[in-house]
Amino acid sequence: MSEQTTRPVVRMRGIVKRFGGTTVLDGIDLDVHEGEVVTLIGPSGAGKSTLLRCVNGLERIDSGTIEVDGEQLSSTEKGLNHLRSRIGMVFQSFNLFPHMTVMDNLTVAQREVLGRSSDEARQRGAALLERVGLGNRADAYPDHLSGGQQQRVAIARALAMDPAVMLFDEPTSALDPELVGEVLDVMRTLADEGMTMMVVTHEMRFARRAADRVVLLADGGIAEQGPPEQVLDHPTSDRGRAFLQQLA
Ligand code: ADP
Ligand code: MG
Repeated sequence: MSEQTTRPVVRMRGIVKRFGGTTVLDGIDLDVHEGEVVTLIGPSGAGKSTLLRCVNGLERIDSGTIEVDGEQLSSTEKGLNHLRSRIGMVFQSFNLFPHMTVMDNLTVAQREVLGRSSDEARQRGAALLERVGLGNRADAYPDHLSGGQQQRVAIARALAMDPAVMLFDEPTSALDPELVGEVLDVMRTLADEGMTMMVVTHEMRFARRAADRVVLLADGGIAEQGPPEQVLDHPTSDRGRAFLQQLA
């Protein structure tokens, strides 16, 4: 294989992140390869969100290096903006622009950040709306959509930027239980299509079905990692066993 295909899309080395006197991430090494789906699990407060926010440059790291798509995360605003255009992020809250229609939500960054024409952006937006099952809602405003529909729009909006990697931070935890499945279905399809993904979730069914690798964070470090069956059914660390036991 050429260097191009073996280079990780996300490469983290020695990531340390502190808040005040508390070390939240204590030397994390993690690679995510092209087409790989990595699910991050672990107790509340373990640093899962912080790790994703570091990848996206929303938090500044205290030491270590992060590369995305071969480019080192830089601290300059220009560098960060370029990098963020390569990363799709979907949060627990849906974060759509409330005063814009679904289509405008999908096209604004394509036009303003990527410089696509209105026609091109709308075509891409329409194709992605079809893909997330919302082809008929282009003119709706977000507050006329269910939470599950809003989250699917948020996924489509992120995909419209043709990101190198998609980061998901508990994308279904704010949803009513009956709406969780439609969002997980979209994510599962994306995973099957080969999207590179880092997914923080409590949905162990998703981890089992869609993840290539499960990474269990605890006490600032990676307590376990491996294929879903290995980590979820046969954890070897005390922290891993304790966390998985309280889920059962
Ligand atoms: P998780 O997503 O695994 O639940 P977080 O990454 O949200 O964990 O938080 C990890 C730790 O960092 C927690 O103790 C949290 O209180 C702390 N933390 C997160 N963000 C901040 C912040 N902006 N300022 C201070 N402490 C923070
Ligand atoms: Mg979190």
